Amino acid sequence: MPPFVIRGETFAFTADPFTGPAEVAYAYDSDGAVVIDGGRIIETGTAAAVLARHPGIRVDHYPSHLIMAGFVDCHIHYPQTRVIASYGKQLIEWLNTYTFPAELAFADPAHAAEVAEVFFAEVLRNGTTTVSSYCTVHPQSADAFFVGASKRNMRVAGGKVLMDRNAPPGLLDTPQSAYDDTKALIARWHGRGRNVYAVSPRFAPTSTPEQLEAAGAVWREHPGTLMQTHVSENAKEIAWVHELFPDAPDYFGVYERFGLAGPGANFGHAIHLSKRERAALQASGSGISHCPASNTFIGSGLFDLAGFTQNAVPAGLATDIGGGSSFSMFATMRTAYEIAQLRGHSLHPVQAYYLASLGSARVLRMEHQIGNLAPGYEADVIVLDPRSRPILAERVSVARSIEDVLFALIILGDDRAVKAVYVAGEKVG
Ligand SMILES: [Zn+2]
Repeated sequence: MPPFVIRGETFAFTADPFTGPAEVAYAYDSDGAVVIDGGRIIETGTAAAVLARHPGIRVDHYPSHLIMAGFVDCHIHYPQTRVIASYGKQLIEWLNTYTFPAELAFADPAHAAEVAEVFFAEVLRNGTTTVSSYCTVHPQSADAFFVGASKRNMRVAGGKVLMDRNAPPGLLDTPQSAYDDTKALIARWHGRGRNVYAVSPRFAPTSTPEQLEAAGAVWREHPGTLMQTHVSENAKEIAWVHELFPDAPDYFGVYERFGLAGPGANFGHAIHLSKRERAALQASGSGISHCPASNTFIGSGLFDLAGFTQNAVPAGLATDIGGGSSFSMFATMRTAYEIAQLRGHSLHPVQAYYLASLGSARVLRMEHQIGNLAPGYEADVIVLDPRSRPILAERVSVARSIEDVLFALIILGDDRAVKAVYVAGEKVG
């Protein structure tokens, strides 16, 4: 495909809005242009300057629309696509009542492929161009995930979950099969196209110490892969971990003990960590996935975002479908804002978009590939319509700044605001 231009109101990050003032951490151009060639962004600038340098180039022009990097959802469960909006349970009962029965069906590769199709269509419709997904215990569920992503040329991370206790027999592997299957899946998918493998022990309660040991070993043996798991989401879960691992200092200490912390480790939730756990997590270089709409929906608690970002812990934003109640990163940013408000702190809109794109990319160690609109980045780009709903158009008509428009979109936007989606420079919706 010859080079082409996406023209509109461009928005890009120029700095981390958590380590300096958010107001100066971005560049906005009311008539900007992004030049794309070979699936990458090769140039950005004002439309006038860019078009003068590239006479006759194809231009996809979106007047009065925002052009930015696609959203990155750094913690999601694709097999739980149909579990979304299930009533009345908290974490452990949630898993037993809804999640585990749904995941049993993924032993069937045809079912896995069918749900993966629905899943990828839904994330792209919402402007999310990268996910890091848990699959089920079945290796074929990971195959279906990576096949679906590869078909769309999306940059994704994912992995089969490891669980060898405290779940129905049909969802259990063993330390050895977890190790062998993970190794085989890494060989099959990691680094193939835009796929990245994430070693995925579900969480400490569903793995024996022997299996966590195996998970640590396989992760260590494959540098460049990621590790994802859950930590400290819910009070009952934490008490259970203390019972199951009486020798560990605390929940995070279980993962540390088995070599499951460090750069490239992605911990979901991290709501109720002790002072020691916070310090250890920060010192390890691990990242955190903040899953606000899951935390409120399942009733888990109010994450201390400000506490972590002040200490420069890599943090991203995630839907945690099916615990989360929406595939939309607007809804996710909105709930992150509301949780921060409840904790006495106002999340700046530029910080929210950062978490939902470049921040999540940083958790996945992809911050030099995706999550921003800058030369050299892969061309995962979304086009947003800040007038996609009557009430949003009304609100934006009195907006005082681009930050005001971005905030209105967070609060009032949904999938209708996603006008176009480009994956590796290819328009997919
Ligand atoms: Zn989760």
